[in-house]
Amino acid sequence: MSPFPRPDYEPLRRYHFDRTPVALDVSDNTNQWGAHPAALEVARRADDNALARYPDLYADDLRAAAAAHLGVPEACIATGCGSDDILDCAYRACAGGPDDFVAAAVPTFPMGLQLARMNGMGARSVPWADALADPRRLLEGGPVLVYVCRPNNPTGHLAPAEWVDALLEAAGEDGPLVILDEAYIDFGGDSFATRAVGRTRTLVSRTMSKAFGLAGLRVGYAAGAPETILEVEKARGPYKVSRMACAAAAVALADAEGWVARTVSDCVACRERAHAALSERGLDPLPSLANFILFRAPSGDARADALGIRSHGVAVRPFVGEYPDGTDALRVTMAPWPLMERFLDALDTFRGNPGRGPNQALPG
Ligand code: PMP
Repeated sequence: MSPFPRPDYEPLRRYHFDRTPVALDVSDNTNQWGAHPAALEVARRADDNALARYPDLYADDLRAAAAAHLGVPEACIATGCGSDDILDCAYRACAGGPDDFVAAAVPTFPMGLQLARMNGMGARSVPWADALADPRRLLEGGPVLVYVCRPNNPTGHLAPAEWVDALLEAAGEDGPLVILDEAYIDFGGDSFATRAVGRTRTLVSRTMSKAFGLAGLRVGYAAGAPETILEVEKARGPYKVSRMACAAAAVALADAEGWVARTVSDCVACRERAHAALSERGLDPLPSLANFILFRAPSGDARADALGIRSHGVAVRPFVGEYPDGTDALRVTMAPWPLMERFLDALDTFRGNPGRGPNQALPG
């Protein structure tokens, strides 16, 4: 009898967290300013062909839009259904068998290591502090792929450019594929996209789910050297991104009216205010260059705190043992300031300190 599923796959579980509707959901780092208006317009005007016909084999218009956005040649872009899909395709291109493994600095985006296991590889985590002190720690034992999230989810920390340079230098031109996940780069930080296209073993992944407000469309893309991109596209296969998603994401990338620049700038302003408000409350928020902030779980028990805050109508994400000192933390996604006040009110009420003044003007 042949085993099904394969033995190393069996222990994997479906991704799960509480998505019960709540008055304000600031738990998943999606765009609280809404969807890119130009993309919304494309969706509203969709005709018969948008649904009845297959899309481009490899989303050429979307590739062209992403290439123009990054200022790189079209041959240096691969597209996918969200950056999760891009990562999955890149991992698949590297996965040779159970002795192969992926290395990542933790805490980080869980899919960075989960995708290794899904693709039949091992996963090796290196504590962030150790990796930051010496990027060569990520290369120990000879991984086939190194995953770096920049800015990092859930901490919001941006590994310095010199650190990335040192990692790439140590990895070499025939070492592991180094993936730089730039899902949050629009909110702060210097992109490695143009540098990635000049190297054979570096891939930058990007998403339309955050700054562009298109998480529901599921579009992501990657930048790398044409030969690297070719390998990713082999794993991707044809007809992947839907016609409507391609068209909507392409106009959003052009961002002709500057919606992204405006909303990102408001998001960054809210981030600074929220950071100050959380510091005032003694919750040690981490400095963040992303659209979220990680702070100490007030009671020390992240799950209980997230449930408590949820009972006041606001969902935040609990992280057990993932604050840098190993204690529990909560992550809150940035939103327009009146909504951040709604979050702060829920936090204060939960902590038994309603005296900071509930915001009467806000809807439930
Ligand atoms: N990378 C990081 C760091 C993320 O936080 C996320 C989503 N939370 C993703 C990739 C996946 O994004 P998507 O598949 O929506 O593009």
